[in-house]
Amino acid sequence: MIAGADIANLVNESALNAARQNRKVVMMIDFDLAKDKVLMGAERKSMLLTEEEKKVTAYHEAGHAIVAALMPFSDPLHKVTIIPRGMALGVTMQLPETDKHNYTLDYLNTQIAVMMGGRLAEEIFLNQMSTGAGNDIERATEMSRKMVCEWGMSSLGPLTFGKKEEQIFLGRELSQHRDFSEETAREIDSEVRRLVNGGYEKAKAIILENRDALIRIALALLEREVLDANELKLIIEGKQLPARVIPQKGDDGVQQVLKPEPGRTPGIAPGKPSPA
Ligand code: ZN
Repeated sequence: MIAGADIANLVNESALNAARQNRKVVMMIDFDLAKDKVLMGAERKSMLLTEEEKKVTAYHEAGHAIVAALMPFSDPLHKVTIIPRGMALGVTMQLPETDKHNYTLDYLNTQIAVMMGGRLAEEIFLNQMSTGAGNDIERATEMSRKMVCEWGMSSLGPLTFGKKEEQIFLGRELSQHRDFSEETAREIDSEVRRLVNGGYEKAKAIILENRDALIRIALALLEREVLDANELKLIIEGKQLPARVIPQKGDDGVQQVLKPEPGRTPGIAPGKPSPA
């Protein structure tokens, strides 16, 4: 997933992270932080979210995470965070086990379901919708449209619809030339809708079957802000999270163990939040 051009960036960022901690040695954690920055955008810790925004973000990301964790053709979860990064209030990051160059129908349908997980969690657990899902919805719609119009993955068959006129030098699509009838346009729309709704229904079934696990992820996110792959696995399995280990400032190897505060272990608060 990390392109060659990013490698130099990664090395620089790792060294900077070590320097920020007054260390002369670059440690694994410096590399991990750098990798997350390259993959997910820079953290914006100065961006202050209200408690309500944090809660919405935590449930939204937990929705993505549970669908990603439980769908068979999904890429493994890498990290989930409710620390704003780039333009996003939260991020659910998946990493493919190998570089992918070709996508199957199952994989794309899974991607759409994962994208729907965020909005669904807001609807089901907080009984509301937010603009936070706008980007997910846009990407899911765009992907479905490509599946129908470019990749022949719908009941309309192996045809392409809409010839693209691209200006190669600028590398972007300038206009879409319509080469199909009004009737076909309606069929395309209905197939796009079917694909997006299919993902929505799949995600909904997973979320409803795994309500408790989703709530545990959301509460753990509110407490810890970031969860890695192993922590997510433990939470979904209903196991206790181990105390968090972070390197101490100014140290080259000594680590400090953060003990969880008593009574704040992620779990299901009885009776709340009330699923719709
Ligand atoms: Zn989202």
